[in-house]
Formats: sequence, C-alpha cells, structure tokens
Amino acid sequence: MSTQIEVLATLQQVDQSLRAKTLAVAEGEGRVAGLEEAVRGQTAAATAARTQVGELAARQADLESRLAAAEAKMKDRRMRITRIRNDKELGLARREVDLLKEEIGTLEADLVAVMEEAEAATAKLQGLDSELTRLTAERDAEAAALRETLGRLGSEIERERAARTKLIEGVDGELRRKYEMIFSRRGGLAVVEVRGGICQGCRMRVPPQLYNEIQRNEHVILCPSCQRMLFWRAEAEEASG
Ligand SMILES: [Zn+2]
Repeated sequence: MSTQIEVLATLQQVDQSLRAKTLAVAEGEGRVAGLEEAVRGQTAAATAARTQVGELAARQADLESRLAAAEAKMKDRRMRITRIRNDKELGLARREVDLLKEEIGTLEADLVAVMEEAEAATAKLQGLDSELTRLTAERDAEAAALRETLGRLGSEIERERAARTKLIEGVDGELRRKYEMIFSRRGGLAVVEVRGGICQGCRMRVPPQLYNEIQRNEHVILCPSCQRMLFWRAEAEEASG
C-alpha cells in the first residue's frame, strides 16, 4: 500500500507529462491561430490592392480612349483647315485646333500619371500576393504539424488522463486540493524530494527534526521555505551518498 505522498509523487509525474503534452498542443494551436489571422489580414490587404489596380486600369483605358478621340478630331480639323478660304472661319478653326492641342496635352499628362500609379500599385500587389503565398504555406505547414502532434499525443493524453483519475482516487480530498494548488502555483512542481536534508525544490536545508519526520513518510510535510510537499526516497538517499 502506497502512502499519500508516494501516490502524489506518481501523480505528479503523470501531471508533468500531461502538462508538457497539453502545452505542446496549445502552442501548436496558438501558432496556427496566429497564422490564420495573418493570412486573413494579408488577404484583405491584397484584395484592396487588387481593387485599386483594377480602378487604375479602368482610368487608364478611359484616358486612352479620350486621347485617341481627341487626336482623331484634331487630325480631322487640320485636314479641314487646308480647305477653308474664309478668314473668319479659318480663325475659328485654328482656335479649335489650339484647344484640342491643349486638351491632348492634359490627357497625356494625366495618362502618364495614371500609368505610374498603376505600375506602383501592381508592384505593391505582387509583393502582397507573394507574402500571402508564403504565409499560406507556413499556415498549412503549421496546421499539418498540429495534426501530427494531435495524432501522436492525443491517445497518450487520453491514457494519462485515465491514469490520473485512477491515481487521484487514492488521495484524500484536502490533500488533493493542496497538491493541485501548489502544482499550479509552483511551476508544475508540488512534490519534491529531500536529499541529504536539502529540499530539491528550493535548495534550502530543512530542520533536522523535520527531516527525521519526513523520512518516516507517514504524513505530508511542507517545506518551510517553498511550501512544497516533501518526499523522501531511501534509494535516492543511498545513491547520492
Ligand atoms: Zn523547499
């Protein structure tokens, strides 16, 4: 029949293993969630950039067609001028050609500006798209790694949880609560060995009288300095000398 502290020491081994495994799963889930978030943000940015590229392409096409129309009109007016004999009509026609020249100049300047803008927007979109591809691949790799981790650890976690349930049945309720509280507050280390009179949790020497009491393993004794549950193992004592 194991003493309470012996059961707790075994329980702690199971709990430490469970803690490491559930942490590994949680970290994997955290990485996948972070990458999902990054992919969503990047997708939104790429969509916005794609819309902008589309709008600029439409503006460019519109300017090009207006420019072509103005150039055709000017060619037509210049042809007509050669046939005009009336001074007044000639003056009006020349004025019209001047206005068309001005319009063409403005359209050309606008077109150059839009083309430059479109070039920059396209380069930006390409950058966003390639980053999105990279992030998506990274997310897929993390998700695959998580599935692998779950596949590997899932059944072990289940087995250890069952073992834990069985072990904890043998621990008194008050002691169980105390153990769980210390385990969670003291970084997953609630039961520690005392070797050569020294607590292995905090490296402090326990008073000799208490040390004698611990060696009897009759009831659970807390370390006076770190408040962990002290455990004495005869064979460990001999091994350490
Ligand atoms: Zn201690």
